[in-house]
Amino acid sequence: MKRIGVLTSGGDAPGMNAAVRAVVRKAIYHNVEVYGVFGGYSGLMNGNIKKLELGSVGDIIHRGGTFLYSARSEEFKTKEGQQKGIEQLKKHGIDGLVVIGGDGSYMGAKALTEHGFPCVGVPGTIDNDIPGTEFTIGFDTALNTVIDAIDKIRDTASSHERTFVIEVMGRNAGDIALWAGLAGGAETILIPEEKQDIKEIAERLKKGQERGKKHSIIIVAEGVMSGYEVGKQIKEATDFDTRVTVLGHVQRGGSPTVNDRVLASRLGARAVELLLEGKGGRAVGIEKNSLVDYDIIEALAKPHTLDLDLYKLSKELSI
Ligand code: ATP
Repeated sequence: MKRIGVLTSGGDAPGMNAAVRAVVRKAIYHNVEVYGVFGGYSGLMNGNIKKLELGSVGDIIHRGGTFLYSARSEEFKTKEGQQKGIEQLKKHGIDGLVVIGGDGSYMGAKALTEHGFPCVGVPGTIDNDIPGTEFTIGFDTALNTVIDAIDKIRDTASSHERTFVIEVMGRNAGDIALWAGLAGGAETILIPEEKQDIKEIAERLKKGQERGKKHSIIIVAEGVMSGYEVGKQIKEATDFDTRVTVLGHVQRGGSPTVNDRVLASRLGARAVELLLEGKGGRAVGIEKNSLVDYDIIEALAKPHTLDLDLYKLSKELSI
């Protein structure tokens, strides 16, 4: 393998830049050239590909977003689109590709691998919803952004004796809600993986008020229902003064945390090692703080599992 490519795809996540940096530096360390594909699979099909040098990835380790840009492309889901991508890779003399993104991006990497072009997937998404890894790049930074918001809302909630509903991202996974809810001391955490009854939540809120609680914080994952709907139902069931905050895209930005930078550096470098070992069609991840890699097709077939012990703990601590 003399020349590899790297792209970022799907939703951006803080730490993607650190992962690209690791890919570039690790490859050059091993005397392998690196080409950056700008604009995800869309840029790949259009040949938006440029050589990256050591200096190309200087001064980006601390920046959110992705300097390679990201995009979503329907065309790349077709065989013709994938063929266009492979033609561009061949035209640039690229022998292997590192794809940093979510499960949709992995599907693209899987398709290229099935066409005989070796790809390695690196999990980059704030949602922490990719099978084959306990943590994804960007999750920790997003959690810190959410916690910052919860702490601020807690100040105003206690001053006005209000119930606050905070909607967080996560698509169909409850990881952001669960971890941020536990760390932020939320009274209730609503996640798609576990059903909860609004009436029962309302009863607990009332009991809390009876024993002198001044405010309550409810965290809802976007995959359950909208925060506004939860706020409406809580208000109807309790008549408490209820306010709703939808955190939205603020959760995707910001300088990556130490954890995300270190994770991105480890995973990006490991992806290059796999390509150099001639192992395409893999997805890298982290389990029990050790690097792991799976066949990308097997990784996609694994269910994403939420830490239910943490959920149980959050319930025990919020009585
Ligand atoms: P996130 O979950 O953070 O948004 P993602 O990688 O899951 O990231 P998607 O929009 O699902 O985001 O996928 C990114 C891109 O991957 C798509 O726009 C498309 O170009 C490509 N892709 C998705 N599914 C497939 C597929 N089945 N075959 C080929 N390419 C695909």
